[in-house]
Amino acid sequence: MQLNDPTLFRHQALINGEWRDGDHGAVEAVTNPATGEVLAEVAQLSAAQTGAAIGSAADALVSWRALTGKQRGVVLQKWAALIEQHQEDLAVILTAEQGKSLAEARGEIAYANSFIIWFAEEAKRVEGTVLQSPQAHQRLLVIKQAIGVTAAITPWNFPAAMITRKVAPALAAGCTMIVKPAEQTPLTALALAELAQRAGIPAGVLQIVTGPAAAAGKVLCDSPVVRKLSFTGSTEVGRLLMAQCAPTIKKLSLELGGNAPVIVFDDADLDSAVAGIMASKFRNSGQTCVCANRIYVQRGIYPALAARLVASVEALRVGNGMEQGVTQGPLIDDDAVAKVRAHIDDALSQGATLLTGGRPHALGGTFFQPTVIGDVTASMRFAREETFGPVAPLFPFDDEAQAVAMANDTEFGLAAYVFTRDAARQWRVPEALEYGMVGINTGLISNEVAPFGGVKQSGLGREGSRFGIDEYLEMKYLCLDLS
Ligand code: ADP
Repeated sequence: MQLNDPTLFRHQALINGEWRDGDHGAVEAVTNPATGEVLAEVAQLSAAQTGAAIGSAADALVSWRALTGKQRGVVLQKWAALIEQHQEDLAVILTAEQGKSLAEARGEIAYANSFIIWFAEEAKRVEGTVLQSPQAHQRLLVIKQAIGVTAAITPWNFPAAMITRKVAPALAAGCTMIVKPAEQTPLTALALAELAQRAGIPAGVLQIVTGPAAAAGKVLCDSPVVRKLSFTGSTEVGRLLMAQCAPTIKKLSLELGGNAPVIVFDDADLDSAVAGIMASKFRNSGQTCVCANRIYVQRGIYPALAARLVASVEALRVGNGMEQGVTQGPLIDDDAVAKVRAHIDDALSQGATLLTGGRPHALGGTFFQPTVIGDVTASMRFAREETFGPVAPLFPFDDEAQAVAMANDTEFGLAAYVFTRDAARQWRVPEALEYGMVGINTGLISNEVAPFGGVKQSGLGREGSRFGIDEYLEMKYLCLDLS
């Protein structure tokens, strides 16, 4: 891996402003999913070291929250400037450990940075309010204050953006934060932390603990000092963390599994529907929580849409994300490939039709052919489970009510997409969908300005946007008696 600034490549954890090995010298290899090459041996912290990080976060909180929002915003802006300056190195590290194409990795670094830039500004806009009192001799006020020490546990599919989407609002609000990145992708997190150090984010304000997830998670959840946990990952682990946080009544943000439906009506613009499906389904090789997982296509447009989609999918280029022109990197690991294969086999055994792809790619490893499957039905695993891979399953449908019912028939509720040119339907269907986010005639909905999050078992809370900082603030009511 060629970096312009090799000192961004860190393999120790960041505790209280210092780079540290694990107590017992334990390390875990981080590998490149495109080549199998070991990139680094990353420190595995003990539970006691995570505990020490909590102590440092509590110490650092005192002076960090005492700064004005404007002062904290200035520090965040410096961090953002350094990230922009080192965008290429960060993208290279990200592609090396995660597998996505370098173009997507560059895009992710810019997207990640957009949260820091946004919340650097929002730090200045944390506002309270004055209420009208029912008593003439009283004045009633509401102020907002930082929650305190917070923790984040993040996944491997967006090694940069899932970190900044949590760290930026936390730090802007005046909280300190301990981040436990995914074990598959800690190197991007550590590089971002190196830049945070250079930007002058004080020791203990942002710390990165690497190591065994369950042990670190338990320490963070059990601690009464940690007042909030923000988690992005599977619904299963989210449920476990929620239970672990119950004894200390921690505030929680949970961004969990998706299973996003796409509904394409007969009146849709075919070009934009195909472009939207491609963008939503095949980004990061299908490994995002807002990726289209179930594509419902009305029968009148079904043959034309299927043919166009197959042509677009066959034009994708699979390979090492570092290579020019590659659009599809490898899947993250063997388990991911096994799940994709199991979903395809299940559908084909129940009468679905293979339209293209369907098999591991000739490149070997965890590369998989971009796939389209037709005639998928509600009894197949595609209907109920998140596939998290490059497979587009097409479900034919007859009418609007049926499509909405099928789209809502899941315990998940993160993102949904609708393609229609009918103006009334553009309102009616999104309003009937039980999802936190709906794209209408688009497959790309994420940006720093919008509130990202789900309903039902897709999670709690919203990230990004002017609402995102509230997740790190407590309201305090003041009652002043003048008599
Ligand atoms: P994914 O399927 O995307 O890997 P996970 O929910 O397993 O989703 O992982 C998301 C994050 O949760 C990762 O940082 C992982 O290390 C962490 N994690 C997994 N299991 C636990 C656990 N028992 N306690 C705390 N964190 C965990």
